[in-house]
Amino acid sequence: MSDDGCVFCDVVRGTAEASTVHEDDDVVAFMDLHPVTPGHLLVVPRTHAAGLEDLDPELGARVWTVGHRLAKALRRSELECDGINLFLADGEAAFQEVFHVHLHVFPRFAGDGFRISAHWRQAPRRELDATAAAVRQALAALPA
Ligand SMILES: [Zn+2]
Repeated sequence: MSDDGCVFCDVVRGTAEASTVHEDDDVVAFMDLHPVTPGHLLVVPRTHAAGLEDLDPELGARVWTVGHRLAKALRRSELECDGINLFLADGEAAFQEVFHVHLHVFPRFAGDGFRISAHWRQAPRRELDATAAAVRQALAALPA
């Protein structure tokens, strides 16, 4: 997978400006340029992966571990933070905009304006069972 023109690879290399809060051998975490709330962070793997299909699972676990730690830090920070959202968009249909895997970690509080809109409804059990069967079939076909 090419990283040509990838802004997050530029951040990882230090050739793009970023307000970094954490760096290690595997991941970098920095402030989102367009924060949902103050404290909105992005955690990215150092190795370019456009989406979850390309992401090494061990590296994905590192991204999660750092995101989890950052969530704890946000809770303890002086920033307004009564809750946390972890959010990962995989694919254009999921509103992924930068095609280098990134985990959003951002503070939440009453009246912060963040919304997720959906047609919430309780599904009938037979529909849930049929959907579960489709997922189990795909899961069984995945390489180990
Ligand atoms: Zn990249």
